[in-house]
This record gives sequence, structure tokens and C-alpha cells, in this order.
Amino acid sequence: MDLGIAGRKAIVCAASKGLGRACAMSLAREGVELVITARTPGPLEATAEEIRSATGVSVRVVASDITTDEGRAAVLAACPDPDILVNNAGGPPPGDFRDWRREHWMAAVEANMFTPIEMIRATVDGMMKRNFGRIVNITSSSVKAPIEILGLSNGARAGLHGFVAGLARKTVRHNVTINNLLPGPFETDRMRSNLEHMARAKGVSLEQAREARQRDNPSGRLGDPAEFGDACAFLCSAQMGFVTGQNFLMDGGAYPGTY
Ligand code: NAP
Repeated sequence: MDLGIAGRKAIVCAASKGLGRACAMSLAREGVELVITARTPGPLEATAEEIRSATGVSVRVVASDITTDEGRAAVLAACPDPDILVNNAGGPPPGDFRDWRREHWMAAVEANMFTPIEMIRATVDGMMKRNFGRIVNITSSSVKAPIEILGLSNGARAGLHGFVAGLARKTVRHNVTINNLLPGPFETDRMRSNLEHMARAKGVSLEQAREARQRDNPSGRLGDPAEFGDACAFLCSAQMGFVTGQNFLMDGGAYPGTY
């Protein structure tokens, strides 16, 4: 299927590794020109080069912290009028809510709620004027099925979902959609550090924690980031203009509810 987005411009935030990287690669395969971001320049440039040589599209990099005003300004200066915006940032650390103080909560809200809202604020009016826009927020299955040790993530991301649910109905008339893509367990560096935390907490080896995580999932495996990237590209397609304000779970069937 031709997704009808060749030649479009996208900002993909936090994209040197993991799910952000996979989204960037899948969009590039559809002929989308990219600006990708991450804080660490080396891996960011290496990812950009891999995407360029795999797809031939233009990939520019902005090494900045997307959770800061300066970081967002640098990205928006490089691409002030994107057609596609993929919001992403590192997730908050796991832990026990008794240890979290104001600064921990504020950091989580800043990264996983305020940052995507600021990126949407800076880009959505231009998308509506141009009558095309696709915004995808990478959040977490923990919004639908909270994970106890990820309380900071459960809380901050739920705030973003609430905001998006309202705004997404205002933009779709102008062919601008806003949807959330909710990863369950995917094989990335972030997943590895969560498994290390679980292994320590349960007094088991990393491999045992990993096997348990796979066994607990109805699919019997962890997700492949490439699957996630392709779903993101599909959400950004021309064909998806009638779908907005939705929360798409990609969790191998782990969420047990009907709705
Ligand atoms: P990952 O493999 O650790 O990759 C994170 C990427 O984000 C890296 O490119 C990192 O590069 C960049 N990044 C982190 N903080 C940033 C910042 N402040 N500014 C700019 N770039 C930043 O993580 P992932 O597994 O892809 O996870 C992506 C998101 O999905 C996270 O919010 C995570 O919590 C969420 N999630 C993941 C899973 C999963 O199974 N993987 C499940 C549920 C939710 P630098 O470090 O160089 O900045």
C-alpha cells in the first residue's frame, strides 16, 4: 500500500534508538524527509546515516534535550513547518512512590506531558492552515493498564492522553489527526533497564526476568521495534485522516479488556 506521504516532512523526537528510531526508519521508507533528535550526537548521527543509506531520504539531526525550551526551539528552528510530528522522550525511572518528591513528578510531567503538548502547540496551527498533519505521541500501555513500579509514567502520560482527547476533535476538520501509540514490551534499551530493575527487585537473573516477561505476554515474545515503526507510519498515512484521538495499544494482547 502506498501511504501517500512521500515528500512530506517529519520531526521524530528522541529517535537515535529504540521506538523513535524505528518510527523514523519506517517514515523514511515511505519517502518522508526527516529531522531526528536525541541528546547524544554520536549515536544520533550514526542512526541518521543508517536511515539515509537505507532509504535515500534527507535526514537532518538536532542534538538537543527535547524536554527543555532550548532543545525544542532548536528542533523547531530546523523544521518549523512539519507535516508529521512524532512525540517521544525517555520514560521516567521505575521506583516506589514513597521515594518520589515534587522534583521527580515535575520531571516526569515535563518530559512526558508538557513536552509533547508544547511541540503540538508549536506545529498544529501551521498543519491546519496547510490542511494536512499527522501527530503521533509515543506513550505507554501503562496508561491503560498501569504498571505498579512505573507510577511516574502512568500518571504523567495519562495527563497527555486527557489533553489529546479534547484537542484531537478540533483539528481533524482540517485533516490534522492526533493519536497515541501505546507500546507494551518492546525489545529496546529502555526495556532492558526495566528488566534489570525487576530482576534486582525479585532477586532473579536478567535472563529469568526476561523469560518471565515473555511468558506473561499472550504472544510469548517481546515486540520488535520495526513493527512499532510501521504502525506509526500507517497512523501518519494519507489514508488515516478519519482517525483521531485514539489510543492504539501494541502489546501482544497483554491488555485483557474488551474495550
Ligand atoms: P530507548 O531505547 O532507551 O531510546 C530512547 C531514545 O530517546 C534514545 O534515542 C535517546 O537518546 C532519546 N532520548 C531520551 N531522552 C531524551 C531527551 N530528553 N531528549 C531527546 N532525546 C531523548 O527507549 P524506548 O524503549 O525506545 O522508549 C521510548 C519511549 O517509549 C519511552 O518514553 C519509554 O518509556 C516508552 N515505552 C517503551 C516501552 C518499551 O518496551 N520499549 C514500553 C512502554 C513505553 P539520548 O539518550 O541520546 O537522548
